[in-house]
Amino acid sequence: MVAFCAQLGEKPFRATQLFRWVHQRGVRDFDRMSDLAKAFREKLKDCAYVVAPPVAREHVSRDGTVKWLFDVGRNNAIETVYIPEDDRGTLCISSQAGCAVGCRFCSTGHQGFSRHLTSGEIVGQLWWAEHALRQRLGTQERVITNVVFMGMGEPLHNYPALVPALRTMLDDHAYGLSRRRVTVSTSGVVPMIDRLAHDCPVALAVSLHAPTDALRDTLVPLNRKYPLAELLAACRRYLDHAPRDFITFEYCMLDGVNDQPEHARQLIELVSHASTGLACKFNLIPFNPFPQSGLRRSPNARIAAFAGMLSDAGIVTTVRKTRGDDIDAACGQLAGEVQDRTRVTERMAKLRHAAPRATA
Ligand code: SAH
Ligand code: SF4
Repeated sequence: MVAFCAQLGEKPFRATQLFRWVHQRGVRDFDRMSDLAKAFREKLKDCAYVVAPPVAREHVSRDGTVKWLFDVGRNNAIETVYIPEDDRGTLCISSQAGCAVGCRFCSTGHQGFSRHLTSGEIVGQLWWAEHALRQRLGTQERVITNVVFMGMGEPLHNYPALVPALRTMLDDHAYGLSRRRVTVSTSGVVPMIDRLAHDCPVALAVSLHAPTDALRDTLVPLNRKYPLAELLAACRRYLDHAPRDFITFEYCMLDGVNDQPEHARQLIELVSHASTGLACKFNLIPFNPFPQSGLRRSPNARIAAFAGMLSDAGIVTTVRKTRGDDIDAACGQLAGEVQDRTRVTERMAKLRHAAPRATA
């Protein structure tokens, strides 16, 4: 923004003012940016605009979860989900249209890779959601307190766009989110975990899903490139820089595949072992089924037993609540909407110009 303002012959503090108008206050109309000189506002109107990708669809769930489907062009759509809870508001955002990793249990993975999102498209999801929600709730207070990169895409495959987006989320002149409350979730792109540790260490979640290489190879194909020992070593290195003193392991519970007592024992061994062990918490995710996967969700009793074994071994373990089931906003459900491209395209035309109005 400083460089952009310099091109227009403006001083760096103008960049800060502009940043605050756009991100803190959600204002897109330059004429409303009252502390900017008129001449500067005119220059901005000639060469810039403030816009998020158009919303193609919006769903509000009975439990308050809101899902937006954004049109990112060429028949690609990405999804963003807001999950309200008593003590926080979490936004789950996407980093790519589609995903190249191709995990067996993930409908985005089945869809394949379309393209990387730009930093603007990543941050634009937060910009839109924060200001649309403030307007809806009639508040000037912050609504979104946490961001998780658990929507579509592998964020560490889109590293050049990810880091500026993260920095904007953390910036006090923008969203001012704490590093502990922004979580990058990855299937395990080892070299990029190391880079993130140095460039922008936020909370890290790693999608583990299996205790052995033999099983993980079949679920998360990236494991063949970065096997478990390397992945866990990278997690350990990350902890030296991380804002939290543990890594979160996500583990999708798949009936008869990775949910047996034997798997729990192997996991305990893996994370407590002298060479691979590390400080971690487990988040067990009940699988959200979709037809092409050929997989089933583990029964609740088995998930509870699995969680019990990990907890008894001293590992903090939570089972993720499923939210927004009635609007297909649960994890891994995102691509279903995207594949239904006709409906998306029809709605896009109508909603192309929809954007949160300035509230300042
Ligand atoms: N690519 C990143 C982040 C996006 S996926 C990653 O894999 O971590 C976010 C989380 O949703 C991952 O833990 C992923 O394993 C999980 N997930 C994907 N499909 C799912 C499904 N059908 N049911 C439950 N969880 C799923
Ligand atoms: Fe990609 Fe994550 Fe889905 Fe795997 S689980 S295909 S890495 S989005």
